[in-house]
Order: sequence, then C-alpha cells, then structure tokens
Amino acid sequence: MSEAVLLDGRRLATHIEESLRAEVATFTTMVGRRPRLVVVLVGDLPASASYVKAKAQAAARVGIDAVVVPVAETASTADLVQLVERIAREESDPADGILVQLPLPARVDATAVLDAVPPDRDVDGFHPENAGLLSQGRPRFIPCTAAGVQRMLIDAGIETAGRHAVIVGRSDIVGKPLALLLASRGTSLPGMPAIGGDATVTICHSRSRDLAGETRRADILVAAAGRPGLITADMVKPGAAVVDVGTNRVDGRLVGDVAFEAVRRVAGWISPVPGGVGPLTVAMLLSNTLLAAELRLGRRSFSAATRP
Ligand code: NDP
Repeated sequence: MSEAVLLDGRRLATHIEESLRAEVATFTTMVGRRPRLVVVLVGDLPASASYVKAKAQAAARVGIDAVVVPVAETASTADLVQLVERIAREESDPADGILVQLPLPARVDATAVLDAVPPDRDVDGFHPENAGLLSQGRPRFIPCTAAGVQRMLIDAGIETAGRHAVIVGRSDIVGKPLALLLASRGTSLPGMPAIGGDATVTICHSRSRDLAGETRRADILVAAAGRPGLITADMVKPGAAVVDVGTNRVDGRLVGDVAFEAVRRVAGWISPVPGGVGPLTVAMLLSNTLLAAELRLGRRSFSAATRP
C-alpha cells in the first residue's frame, strides 16, 4: 500500500521565513528600526525554555529583535500583570509583540496575565478581543498553531471547502481557534486563492462518546489532545489528511498524538512530530509580530490584516 504524503512543516517554515525576511528588511529600512518581540518566560521548565529559544532564534533569522524577560517561578499573578503592563508602557524601545510563554505556574491566574497583554500587541492571539474578532470572521492575530495548521493545508493543496474536518481537542489556544478558522467563510470562488475555510467541522474532546466513529468520518483529521498514540490507523479514513499537533515527551523522545508509522499507511497526507506543526507555529508567530509592528505604525490597515 502506498504511503501518505509527508506534510513537511520544517520546509514550509523555511520558505515562510525567507519571505518574512524580505518583508522585515523593508519594514526596517522604512521605519528605521526592527520589529520587536518581547517574550516573558516564567520559571525554568526545560520545555518552555527550549520553545522560547527556538522562537528567539527564528526571530533573529528573519531580522526581528526578540527580547526574553526571565521571571522567577515564585512571581505572583500581580507581579506578572504589572510586568506585562510595564513592558506595554515602554516607549523608548517599544514592544510590537508581547508574548507570555505558557504554561504558567499552576497558582498563577493565567487568564489575568494573558488579558493584560494589550490586544494590539497580542501576537499569540489569546486576548478575548482577538478571539472575538476571529469568531466573527475578521481575525487580527490568529493563534499561531491554528494558523500554522491552516497554512500547512493550503500549502499542500488540501481542499477544505465542503470537506469534513474533525479536530480532537477544544482548547482556547489550538482546537477552538482552528475550528473557527476551518469553518469560516472562505474564498472558495473560482480563480480566487483558497484560504482554507468552508469546512464542516466537528470538535471532539475527552467527553466525546465515539471518538473513533467521529475521526473515521474525517477528510481532514487534526489531533490536538496531548495524548501520545491516541489516533490509531483504524480511526483514520483511507486517504484522509492527518495533522498531528500533539507534542509529548515519551522516554526522552518527542512524539505526537498520532501512531505515525501505522497511520501513514492509511492516510493520504500526514504531518510528522517533530518537524510538522511545531516549526509552523514559530513561523506564524514571526508573521504576527511583523503584522503587529505594521498595524501599530499604520503601515497596514486593520481590514488588510487578515492573512492565511
Ligand atoms: P489542552 O490540554 O489544553 O487541551 C487538550 C484537549 O484535548 C482538551 O480539549 C481535551 O478534552 C482533549 N482530550 C484530551 N484527551 C482526550 C482524549 N483521550 N480523547 C479526546 N479528547 C481528548 O492542550 P493544548 O490544546 O494546549 O495542546 C494540545 C497538544 O498540542 C499538546 O500535546 C501540546 O503540547 C500540543 N501543542 C503543540 C503546539 C505546536 O506548536 N506543535 C502548540 C500548542 C500545543 P477536554 O476539553 O474534555 O479536557
């Protein structure tokens, strides 16, 4: 049996970075400074530190200044809210984008901290104003992982219009925004570029009664549950596009939510972990940071902010 086409997120992210580098260079020449991203990193979780490092390195590659602000694990909710507000007020070296790396320590009220990020600097797209705009079909900052998945589908030429997409996971940062994006009114008119909407979307979660029954009906199956090996070959419709968002550490190795080796023999397309959605999440963050910088300086109008 033939194997699924690999959805190579690393290759696509490199391609996106190349075009962003040119756009950032134009911005820097016109404005006289680089776009700037400030990342708040609380505590010393190795996974968070490595994600932040990857983001900073990618920013440097495209010419975006990334500043990491390390904060002690013991910081309170009030400390973090004040810190974010202080970063937002900084005028001499303004932050175009502000990101608080998740997860925050369990005793911190993460919602209060994320809500302190001004919506026009919220490059993660987690602020309720940005979530609301996305839900109304006029997104400003699309959460990076959801945008990355959509971009991956578009790049591979996987039609979403009229297809059935099943998303396993309903978090505010991945499952929910992706469902909104895939169900949004797309530009599926003849001669217009597809923007990856117009799908019929099912959202599954831990209370779904017949997960396998739902996933088997998917033309596009996105696994974002954080459960290694959750999606097995018998849960996949032959020829489906399977996108694995899951990032789990098992015996020191990074694995997704999809049983990759078995599912690749059934699916039409499959994304690997690592090297799939992860690099695209970072690329979309850079794209959002440039967008934030351009919006702040009025170099791009809000209505033109929507980009797939
Ligand atoms: P959350 O834990 O916030 O959400 C997980 C979702 O999966 C929940 O909706 C949960 O249901 C659902 N779920 C859990 N177990 C099952 C199950 N057995 N069957 C069906 N649904 C289930 O995780 P996130 O959304 O933050 O992240 C999901 C995964 O994606 C993680 O592995 C994370 O590391 C990864 N991730 C990867 C990124 C990347 O760049 N590649 C970026 C962000 C996240 P319920 O709501 O009922 O609890």
